[in-house]
Amino acid sequence: MSTLNFDLLVIGAGPAGYVSAIRAAQLGLKVACVDREKALGGTCLRVGCIPSKALLHSSELFEQTQGHLADHGIAVKGAALDLKKMMARKDGVVKTLTGGVAGLLKKNKVKVFHGTAVFNPDRTVAIADQTVAATHVLIATGSVAASLPGVDLSQDRVDTSTDAIAYDRVPKKLVVIGAGVIGLELGSVWRRLGSEVTVLEYLDRILPGMDSELAKEARKVFEKQGLRFELGSKVTGVKTTKAGVSVQRDGADSVQADRVLVAVGRKPNTAGLGLEAIGITPNARGQIEVNPRFKTSVDGVYAVGDVIPGPMLAHKAEEEGIACVEMIATGHGHLDYHTIASVVYTDPEIASVGRTEDELKQDGVAYKVGRFPFAANGRARAIDVADLGSVKVLADANTDRVLGVHIIGHMAGDLIAECGTAIAYGASSEDIARSCHAHPTLSETVKEAALAVSGRAIHI
Ligand code: FAD
Ligand code: NAD
Repeated sequence: MSTLNFDLLVIGAGPAGYVSAIRAAQLGLKVACVDREKALGGTCLRVGCIPSKALLHSSELFEQTQGHLADHGIAVKGAALDLKKMMARKDGVVKTLTGGVAGLLKKNKVKVFHGTAVFNPDRTVAIADQTVAATHVLIATGSVAASLPGVDLSQDRVDTSTDAIAYDRVPKKLVVIGAGVIGLELGSVWRRLGSEVTVLEYLDRILPGMDSELAKEARKVFEKQGLRFELGSKVTGVKTTKAGVSVQRDGADSVQADRVLVAVGRKPNTAGLGLEAIGITPNARGQIEVNPRFKTSVDGVYAVGDVIPGPMLAHKAEEEGIACVEMIATGHGHLDYHTIASVVYTDPEIASVGRTEDELKQDGVAYKVGRFPFAANGRARAIDVADLGSVKVLADANTDRVLGVHIIGHMAGDLIAECGTAIAYGASSEDIARSCHAHPTLSETVKEAALAVSGRAIHI
């Protein structure tokens, strides 16, 4: 059997893998990319970011027909949910985008293999009955849903996000374990579609890691919308019955529901990859450790994305992939982790970039705060999103350099982009404040919050 030779073999065609493969091909490398799934694009495109956002949008439209549109003088009679059609639309979006990735790889002359990649001891890679040798091998195998002791994810009604983006009926009662990003996004989807949703969270707050002020505000809004939170609930097990599930908690009553969505984080995906054959040992959290150039402990083997330490985000995975292959091909590459934004796509959206106020306090950094509410923004009023929302700009008290921006409100995920750019360029709050922002746009709230850092906001 002949061995196929490449400059770079990328294992995994998720955001980390396919983007790395394209960039490496642009830089003139002979590239191959392998994925065990037929549809390319990884967790993000197949079962993560994209299908969840498709359902968030559809369910939001459905909720608007349940009363909100009446405020605009639009009477909707007989609105009904066709869940099958909603799911089919979501599947169509996924099909278009995963097909798009295949097209992009082809356009860039990346050789695609379908199959499970397993390392051989000589650092070549077996894919079914083929052997691939490459000067550089990039591991981008991503992550899979994590579970808890006493919770068996293979049981019917005990679901991961992959199940919860494909329910064929609306669960009457849904318990979500974990008030993190998946729990809130998918919990919101099913609440809007009619489920009674209870979120059990171990900590005494939701969205750990995000600015605590924003998280507190968000919790109040979600509760008003009908999500039930039971904070300080440590889930210790799930029992299934014919009728449903019983979720056990430490020191509290168990909770009964039709289904349970386990959303307690994700774990790096290295099972079956044969890492032991080449001498790579994952750390205690199952991650592959890399140096700042994304090199593993084995020469010529690199890793990026969810499989290495850091936030499990698609855009982080992509940027790491690009920086890694640029370093391989040109010797230079760059990624500033401070500019990686986090966005929760609920209603309202919650978006953060840079440092949180909690972190600045903890590190004793002197900072100034500028705030601006959506209630004072003309566009927010016009499009009916002024009830709630605000921007908080944190700037260094001595240099005025922007350290972090935290936004809750409509389209916060899009508004945060300019703030990431500002941080990347070392901008001051004065720089944002002096940049002209089109009127009437929600982006004016960012400008006004930057003005507010030095007490000069115009509209409050
Ligand atoms: P993955 O996307 O997991 O891709 C890894 C690929 O490797 C997979 O295609 C897998 O089949 C393949 N693979 C694994 N092992 C092998 C092997 N041995 N051989 C061959 N192929 C292999 N992030 C965001 O930034 N924004 C969001 O809105 C967002 N929403 C999400 C919603 C949900 C429900 C979930 C679950 C995740 C979401 N994420 C979101 C996280 C995001 O999906 C991940 O951070 C991202 O996909 C990581 O990219 P990756 O390329 O490292 O890994
Ligand atoms: P997460 O880490 O965001 O949240 C998990 C939550 O579960 C935490 O709040 C944790 O305290 C809680 N928890 C842990 N053990 C528990 C127990 N025994 N009982 C009760 N609660 C418990 O994880 P996730 O929501 O599963 O998301 C996984 C990853 O996917 C995240 O890293 C996230 O970045 C990524 N993701 C991102 C987006 C986005 O960017 N919009 C969307 C979905 C997923």
